[in-house]
Amino acid sequence: MVKTGRAVVYEAPNTPFVIREYPVRDVRSGEVLVRITMSTICRSDIHSYQGRRPNPCPGILGHEIIGVIDQIGEEIFNDLRGAPLSVGDRVTWTEFFHHGESHYRDIHNMPQKSPGLRKYGHDLVEDDPHFLGGFAEYCYIMPGTGILRLPDDLSDEKATPLKCGVATMISITEAADIGLGDTVVVQGLGLLGLYGCAIAKARGARQVIGLDTVTTRLDMAKKFGADHVFDISSMDEETLVGRVRAICPPDGADVGLEVCGVAGAVPTGIQMLRIGGRYVIGGLVNPGDDFTIDGNQILKKLITLKGVHNYHPRHLVQALDFVMANRDRFPFKDIVDSKFTLEQLDEAFEVAATRSVLRAAIVP
Ligand SMILES: [Zn+2]
Repeated sequence: MVKTGRAVVYEAPNTPFVIREYPVRDVRSGEVLVRITMSTICRSDIHSYQGRRPNPCPGILGHEIIGVIDQIGEEIFNDLRGAPLSVGDRVTWTEFFHHGESHYRDIHNMPQKSPGLRKYGHDLVEDDPHFLGGFAEYCYIMPGTGILRLPDDLSDEKATPLKCGVATMISITEAADIGLGDTVVVQGLGLLGLYGCAIAKARGARQVIGLDTVTTRLDMAKKFGADHVFDISSMDEETLVGRVRAICPPDGADVGLEVCGVAGAVPTGIQMLRIGGRYVIGGLVNPGDDFTIDGNQILKKLITLKGVHNYHPRHLVQALDFVMANRDRFPFKDIVDSKFTLEQLDEAFEVAATRSVLRAAIVP
């Protein structure tokens, strides 16, 4: 009898999800089959669902996934840390896979930008092996993926966001070169921003300032290391910039991080920086995220401006290390604050889209 599994199919933007069954075939060399134990809805899943970014249809969304190894192919021996892998292990893995030649991987040390790279949650469900997204019972881990075994004493709720949100934030804070004594402004306090506050503190930041419009997230940010939070919903740009600069003497913040997905936040954030400040764009994931900026300000203030997309496999390893080392310091368990079944995916997307929950989890 052919083994099958259920998947929640994204047929087109803004239409209800449909549950379908697909065959689950044996793994081939270099592949691993995982039985999904939890996946979470990332903000970019919502952007895809709303048609704001291109994503193949019909497909399976979801790229923050963990699961238990069901079958393991030849040529798969160890995880990214060198730990042996076997059936029954609970694992996470890089959000992308790439096999074959890559100038960006080999010459520029950017495997995450290899030409032809594919990402979980961004494939057509009708094509073999069908299961390449999070909102399903199974997922195949394809050749060219970095796999990481999860410690038994790390809960599913703390482990699932590692794969996109936490690893991405490790990459963003590394690009910002946050070090001892820095003052860091975090624009946007969703999952990325909350982890951003905590990681900035763990990297040695002296002061972290969190900005958002949602009151509950401002309160939460304080538990994640933010020293000051501002509700920006009723503040004009000049007032906001003035208030942030006033608590970053003598001349503004060292670092600004855009993780709110609002293009207009970039010029505002740059005004908060001191001369020689660093600014990283991490949330503008949709095409057409335009902003206007005075290049002369970048020049005169010696500003470093960087973009971060995807992450290097080392960032996934560091994400796990960060969470394990700081799980008593920050309440990571509060981030995944709601759970849904595969059948309830429409409802889960609705509450996630309206920001009435922080991170919705799907448990097949
Ligand atoms: Zn994501």
